[in-house]
Amino acid sequence: MATVLSAQTTDKAVNKVTPRLFETYPTAAALGSANAEQVGELLKAGGLGMYNVKSKNIVKLAAALVQNHAGEVPRSIDALVALPGVGRKTANVVLGVIWGTPDGVVVDTHVLRLAQRLGFTRKNTPEEIEQALCSLFPREDWDPLSHTLIFHGRRVCGAERPACAACGVQTLCPNAFNAEHVGRKAH
Ligand code: SF4
Repeated sequence: MATVLSAQTTDKAVNKVTPRLFETYPTAAALGSANAEQVGELLKAGGLGMYNVKSKNIVKLAAALVQNHAGEVPRSIDALVALPGVGRKTANVVLGVIWGTPDGVVVDTHVLRLAQRLGFTRKNTPEEIEQALCSLFPREDWDPLSHTLIFHGRRVCGAERPACAACGVQTLCPNAFNAEHVGRKAH
């Protein structure tokens, strides 16, 4: 639920709202039979944007978990992406973080930028970058790889101002001190 709520918002905002959400609706059955408007009010009170759409999505998702999976989170990529509002990225976050069995590398905006800046690939769509990273790294590294790149992207290698002088992999990076224009999304 937290991963679905995190679309187009910060983890900080999601982490603020989820304790109250899970306290109020402690099971998939409770959330799946909840009134979406009331759930939306809870998300809004927690400062989450797009609360109307997101509340409808998570109520539907919880109902599908109850209907198709006895209220549990499934463990396969196919079962996960068949759930409403769950795409490949969300499914791989869940598979990696909960079960330790990702089916690919999660490519968010940080992973996309860092994969290009560090010279792992010249591709620029998330799908192609995921394929390239899966070929370059062993499966057991897929989950920690995306967490590491996301952390590095947030703390050091920012989109606008990469801190190359302070970067621990500066001597290995083909774009060190010249990275501002590398790592852009496909248009
Ligand atoms: S050297 Fe610069 S561009 Fe390369 S990873 Fe470090 S911060 Fe990013």
